[in-house]
Amino acid sequence: MIELNNVSKWYGSFQVLTDCSTSVKKGDVVVVCGPSGSGKSTLIKTVNGLEPFQKGTITVDGVSVGDPKTNLSKLRARIGMVFQNFELFPHLSIRENLTIGQIKVLGRSKEEATEKGLKYLDRVGLLAHKDKFPGQLSGGQQQRVAIARALSMDPIAMLFDEPTSALDPEMINEVLDVMVGLAQEGMTMMVVTHEMGFARKVANRVVFMDKGLVVEDCAKDEFFAQPRSERARDFLAKII
Ligand code: ADP
Ligand code: MG
Repeated sequence: MIELNNVSKWYGSFQVLTDCSTSVKKGDVVVVCGPSGSGKSTLIKTVNGLEPFQKGTITVDGVSVGDPKTNLSKLRARIGMVFQNFELFPHLSIRENLTIGQIKVLGRSKEEATEKGLKYLDRVGLLAHKDKFPGQLSGGQQQRVAIARALSMDPIAMLFDEPTSALDPEMINEVLDVMVGLAQEGMTMMVVTHEMGFARKVANRVVFMDKGLVVEDCAKDEFFAQPRSERARDFLAKII
């Protein structure tokens, strides 16, 4: 579904990604972890073309992301992305947040978009809040709306960039529970997170990054049993 082949990227003269390769099969949950500044956000953003890269190739469902002929907006519409800071539209109601992309990007009717949006809002347990505005919800609730909004677009895969790291501790689980449910239903997911409980529960593979390199890319059990690299061992020792 997603394949990165020797991807390198520079910001000016600073190389942020060096020959990064990994792949995500349909239905796989791949957790990406590593120290702050190691390039996790940059890597995940290259997958849906939010960050250009200078070397290597990325294909998503057979489409080459780096090919100038590729319609990136069309590709992005098929990949759900959830960020650290929710990024809901503050001036739109929850219902409008859920429908605007479906209407403007997918060309769905308002009725169809509303039906689908509310179905996912219900699924994340927030149907009763449909007429509120984002500012009236807690961080955890806003992040669940952001996930429902992404799902409303019928994505072929979901990318998450530290979806719980801006949340108060008591709200982390309500978001992780939604993500665990998605994983168990077979959604293809690439998740940047330090929540190793989540990784242990649902990840198929763990990618560990350090200084722009993919240092480890292995089966979950292998990663937790004994990471091969000292850097990954140090990292795990610090966060668990
Ligand atoms: P992570 O998500 O693992 O914390 P990032 O991908 O955000 O790491 O950043 C990797 C490195 O790239 C960091 O050193 C960061 O300072 C640098 N970086 C990120 N975005 C930019 C940018 N727009 N311009 C220049 N450097 C950047
Ligand atoms: Mg980051």
